[in-house]
Amino acid sequence: MAPGVVGERVVHVIGAGLAGLAAATSLASAGVKTMVHEAAGAAGGRCRSYFDAALGAQIDNGNHLLLSGNETALDYLQRIGARNRLAVGAEAAFDFADLKTGERWRLRLNDGRAPWWLLDPKRRAPGSSFVEHLAALPLLWRSGDGPLAQTMNCDGPLYERLWRPIFLAGLNTEPKVSSTRLASALMRGTLGRGGKACRPMVAANGLSPTFVDPAIKFLSSHGARVFFDRRLRGLRFVGGRAVALEFEGDSVALGSEDSVIVAVPPWIAAELLPGVETPDAFNGIVNAHFRVAPPSGQPRILGVVGGLTQWLFAYTGSLSVTISDAADCIDWNREELARRIWSEVSTLTGLPAELPPSRIVKEKRATFAATPEQDAKRPGARSPWRNLFLAGDWVQTGLPATIEGAIRSGYDAAKLAGAGLFESGAQLAALA
Ligand SMILES: Cc1cc2nc3c(=O)[nH]c(=O)nc-3n(C[C@H](O)[C@H](O)[C@H](O)COP(=O)(O)OP(=O)(O)OC[C@H]3O[C@@H](n4cnc5c(N)ncnc54)[C@H](O)[C@@H]3O)c2cc1C
Repeated sequence: MAPGVVGERVVHVIGAGLAGLAAATSLASAGVKTMVHEAAGAAGGRCRSYFDAALGAQIDNGNHLLLSGNETALDYLQRIGARNRLAVGAEAAFDFADLKTGERWRLRLNDGRAPWWLLDPKRRAPGSSFVEHLAALPLLWRSGDGPLAQTMNCDGPLYERLWRPIFLAGLNTEPKVSSTRLASALMRGTLGRGGKACRPMVAANGLSPTFVDPAIKFLSSHGARVFFDRRLRGLRFVGGRAVALEFEGDSVALGSEDSVIVAVPPWIAAELLPGVETPDAFNGIVNAHFRVAPPSGQPRILGVVGGLTQWLFAYTGSLSVTISDAADCIDWNREELARRIWSEVSTLTGLPAELPPSRIVKEKRATFAATPEQDAKRPGARSPWRNLFLAGDWVQTGLPATIEGAIRSGYDAAKLAGAGLFESGAQLAALA
């Protein structure tokens, strides 16, 4: 038994995406005996890096943007000793370009809650007025549901140049049909808190070196065990409890005090857990990575309207494009996608039109569709079985499917799984 471990009671965490890793690191740091079972050969799930032979470099499955208001994500990084691996923007400023008109602008928020930046035409989208921005005000207090188009005006230049890019990035769903409740949660956690909560944060040296590898190291140094290539095939339930985990080739009987956190994607959870409703409609994201040095002065993140490209990220030695809710182009062949996207990047950056080495990554089920109907299908962290808890960006956290939501759900599940284990409030408090 590892030092500081609470009895022999074990919490099994199924899935080592960020939700599972957040749950496991929280439990392990509180001294709970924790075992993580991951189906793939590596951890990270939908937020991971890997070596790409075509580019001869490590790439991320997709560009991930966080904002300084993502406090749960920052807490997790602090715990695993990786907070300094995020590159944080010096101010809440976002460069934009319009591919159709060639216009460029810089959205520059002030730090405090009162949005006086809106009074300065040089700090907002060109052609927009202060008054037009007020259309989004109801989102600061609206928590009822229905599609966003019923709550705010989803037409016109300000929508196209500000609200659509923001909500599309945060919800991975066409904003007009997105859940007002989720758009509102996004707004309250970011713009509604002022620029201090909106500084852009990027894992500039890769997702796995930032979010995943330090967590695996943390787990092994805290006595937790992580098993790879270990896919859960089924569970056995008796009398309102999970009593066994069925893996390929072996099964693990659960002791009467053991519990399980299922932190797999929703479509797998639906197969494993009879009767548990999960979101069942998903939106894809396309990422295009180009091995080419960004021109000098290229902003780290550029919002783009008027084309296929939505966000252009600049890294050392590469440029990378994100297209959210990518149904219109995700089925195009990769060559065609790379050429079309590169021609836009070449226009935006002034780099030669010849296509550099590239890699298209298609995540067809990147997140659940953030519509009111899908949001209503998200279960809470408790399950019908008293020793089994749910985690994942699709579990009901009130947030869209984001890193912040995934980590928060992992923490919630860890608290529930750990609650039965401790007599001492201090140990329980050690759970995030
Ligand atoms: C391309 C892309 C771009 C994104 N951009 C952003 C962004 O900019 N900002 C942001 O905040 N969020 C972004 N997200 C969302 C974010 O990545 C996810 O919300 C988060 O990674 C989900 O983590 P999770 O742990 O809930 O799920 P997952 O990452 O899906 O983890 C589930 C894990 O369970 C494992 N598993 C599956 N079945 C089994 C089984 N039977 N047994 C054992 N293990 C199993 C899987 O292999 C996986 O490791 C993006 C997502 C994608 C795909």
